[in-house]
Formats: sequence, structure tokens, C-alpha cells
Amino acid sequence: TKPIFNQLKPYVPGKTIDEVKEAYGLERIIKLASNENPFGFSSHVQKHLQDAVTNLEIYPDGYARKLRTKLAAELHVDETKLIFGNGSDEIMQIICRTYLEPGTNTIMATPTFPQYRHNALIEGAEVREVPLVNGYHDLDEMLSIIDEQTRVIWLCNPNNPTGNIFTQAEFDQFMKNCPEHVLVVLDEAYMEYVGTEDFPNALNSLEEYENLIITRTFSKAYGLAALRIGYGIAQESVITKLEPAREPFNTSVIAQHAAVLALEDKAFIEKTFEQNVETKQELEDFCDRLGLRYYPSETNFLLIHLPITGDEMTEHLLQNGFIVRSGEALGIPHSIRLTIGKKDHMKEVMNSMEEKLAKVE
Ligand code: PMP
Repeated sequence: TKPIFNQLKPYVPGKTIDEVKEAYGLERIIKLASNENPFGFSSHVQKHLQDAVTNLEIYPDGYARKLRTKLAAELHVDETKLIFGNGSDEIMQIICRTYLEPGTNTIMATPTFPQYRHNALIEGAEVREVPLVNGYHDLDEMLSIIDEQTRVIWLCNPNNPTGNIFTQAEFDQFMKNCPEHVLVVLDEAYMEYVGTEDFPNALNSLEEYENLIITRTFSKAYGLAALRIGYGIAQESVITKLEPAREPFNTSVIAQHAAVLALEDKAFIEKTFEQNVETKQELEDFCDRLGLRYYPSETNFLLIHLPITGDEMTEHLLQNGFIVRSGEALGIPHSIRLTIGKKDHMKEVMNSMEEKLAKVE
């Protein structure tokens, strides 16, 4: 194997509901660990998905034409500017396969979404990690360490695990100063949840920059994580470079069909957004009342600082039937990352957190 495989570990997902049920002998488990949509997915998808379950002996359309046409029209971009992946995870893998090799380097924040680093290491690239400053991307520092061998810079906006954003002005400044030989990957996995007007409209910048790719997903607000479908948007010259590294039939016929249906149900996304804003506010009010600091989040999760370790709180919550993500595992000790769930579930998890913290003080 490549030497790096002596160090790499497989991705460790949050605990599953079944695992926790068995380990803790509990009947009811609420999962608030993977930023999934607590409202599930659109009933329009549910109703019509079955239509795709036919002719399963035929390979799917590797070019995802129906979905491509639908999405291109929604985004007002040319169809040649899109690439689809088995989750946006796969788009990241394709980018790394295409751009990185030993002798090159790649720049990213830390902590951020771990798959950038993981895939870059597999390609033998040097990974340069720039610590967040007060939880925010240090965009100037990221620019300042670019050299001739830098191939890719990763920007996660909103950032996972902190949930916060950099603004349009910051993005513009960054792009203006980023040399053209470096591909900027702008990961917008949570963009449907963003409420602030300051959020960069990167699609508008696409014409201007040949070294920009935006990645998005149907896994989060659209609630289709199980089907694995995401996409990239870039100038055709970038897409043309990436396409040979894409597996020929990487997205299933069912995933493609579900994504088309999901795009037809705008009301579901609106409801998801509105509920998230309201429930997130309740969680923030709770944190304010208890004096717990958190990062301002434009996503469906909140990273909350704690007076105890993230692992202690995670364990307490597990015992009470809630799966959450400990900050220790995410690179921010003494914190937990909580997905914004349904209101009643959030009330319960807040009560359970308060109970634990009352014993600490
Ligand atoms: N980017 C970010 C920031 C994420 O949090 C995730 C999911 N955890 C992904 C990308 C990957 O999502 P998917 O592969 O399901 O599209």
C-alpha cells in the first residue's frame, strides 16, 4: 500500500440509532449528530420515487441528463458547468484525484470538514492546515502560504463544525488575491440553511473565475443523505478536467430521480429553513440563559462550548437517548455539536443538558 495508509483511518461516522439502542438498552433514540434533516425528506419525493424503480437491469444515465437540465435551469447556469457525485464527498475525491499528487500541496482551515484532508493525503499531497481564528477562516493567512506547488484551497462556507460564515466582501477579497494556478473549492453543503444577506453569492462570481468550484449536496436540507447525491458547479474548463476521474455510473437512477423530485418541492425547503431558524433561536436562548458560548450558526447545527468535556456531555446524552457529536472528535475540545432537530426533541435535549450542567456547578 501507499505509506500514508499506515496512518489513515476510515471515517468514523456518528453512532447509529441501532447501536445506541443495543448498547444502552433504550427504546427511543434521537439522533442529532450528523446534521440530517429532522423533517426527513419531501413527501413529493416519497410519492413519486417509486417511478424510478423500474428497468433496474439498465445502467443509469452516467451524465444524469434529466437532473442536469433541471438543476441547470434552477441555478441559471449552463448544463456543461455541472458535475454530479455520489454525495459531494465524491466530488471532493474527484478533485483530489485530478489536481493533487506527491510534490504538490493543498491548503485548508482546521478544524473543518475532514474529508478534504483525508483525500488529499491519499493522493500524497502535503496538507497545510490553517487554524480558525475565533472560529473563523483565516483567509489572509491561507493566501499567504500559497506557493508554486499549491494546487487546491478548500473553503467551507458555512464551516463545519463551527457553522459560521465568511461574507461576500471577504470572499471577493480572497478571490481577487488568490493566484489563478490554485483551484478554490467552496463547499456550500449547508447553503440552503443560510439566512444572512452577507453570504457570498458565489454563483455570480463563476464567470469571473476559472479557478473556482462550488460544491453542494442533496444530503442536508433536501434530506436525501441515504441516496448519496451532490454536485459541483464550475466553469466548463474545470468540469472537463474533472470528468475523466469520475466513475462512469457514479450516481444511481434512484438518486437522480429523487434529486429532480426534491427540486420540484420548494415548499419543503422553505419549511425546513423556517423551522430551523425558529428552533435554532430557542437553542441559542437556552445557551444564553445558561451562559454557554456558541458560534453564530448559519446552518442546522450549533457548536456549543461547555464547562465540561464534550465526551462527558456526549456520554450523558447518550444515556438519555440522544446521539450528539463531541467536540473532542471534531477538534474543538469542551464543546458539542448539536444538530437542530424537531422542537420537542430539542426541548428534551436541552433539559438533559441542563440537568448535567447543574451537577457540575
Ligand atoms: N461538506 C460538508 C461541510 C459536510 O458537512 C458534509 C457532510 N457531513 C459533506 C460535505 C458531504 O456531504 P455528502 O457527501 O453527503 O454530500
